[in-house]
Amino acid sequence: MRVTLLGAGGSAGVPEVGCLCAVCLSDDPKNKRTRASLLIEINGINILIDTSPDLRQQALRQGIRRVDAVLYTHDHADHTGGVDDMRAFNVQSNAPIPVYGNAGTLALLGQRFAYAFLPRPDLAWYRPCLVPHILPDEAVFQFDVLGVTITAFEQLHGRMKTFGYRVGNFAYSTDVDVLPETAFAALNGVDAWIVDCLRYTESYTHSNLKHTLGWIEQVKPRMAILTHMAHDFDYTRLSSELPAGVVPGYDGIVLEF
Ligand SMILES: [Zn+2]
Ligand SMILES: [Zn+2]
Ligand SMILES: [Zn+2]
Repeated sequence: MRVTLLGAGGSAGVPEVGCLCAVCLSDDPKNKRTRASLLIEINGINILIDTSPDLRQQALRQGIRRVDAVLYTHDHADHTGGVDDMRAFNVQSNAPIPVYGNAGTLALLGQRFAYAFLPRPDLAWYRPCLVPHILPDEAVFQFDVLGVTITAFEQLHGRMKTFGYRVGNFAYSTDVDVLPETAFAALNGVDAWIVDCLRYTESYTHSNLKHTLGWIEQVKPRMAILTHMAHDFDYTRLSSELPAGVVPGYDGIVLEF
């Protein structure tokens, strides 16, 4: 299994449009963060988590030629805005693509991108063609995606729920400010964990550095990678502030299992 963090940025990305702060003006490529997304390559299957508004750029940068399925964490625009760019993957596979999310997420996607959920076009792939698969409203459960077993676990993100996902000993927890006990149980024994860490200060919908480091002490992964980071974090400075086994994520970081 190979995991690529496609986007390590918060909802505005880094640099933020119009911002003149030191991080937004920085030349360090690790301070350039696109919106949150992740690719899991396993057994020849490419599973994308979320379709960020930067999907096209991420696919070109990482050389992604195929997506076999999409898992949605939730419906926020920074995780879904790239739906239209899925069309390129329909062209490559010449097939509809299954997408998974809870009922609320898929209903909202069906409203915003109704054309993407129509039956397969007869002539050519002039639009994306996605097939919805509704995931249950349960705290922790497993399901099968093209022969790959995925564990989903509910997380709290302000007033809404998001899904964290675990595949083997890897887990991804973005857009979360409260992890219920059931999520900690699902994370038990994980080897590498990519986890939400918006900034230094408090947020009503995301975790901050202190809070995330507390979770990491509890989960005890071999390696933790911070993600969904706003322009408050400079890569080099943050790297020097983290304990052993915790690193800031960056666009394109790859984990091999
Ligand atoms: Zn987000
Ligand atoms: Zn800035
Ligand atoms: Zn969100």
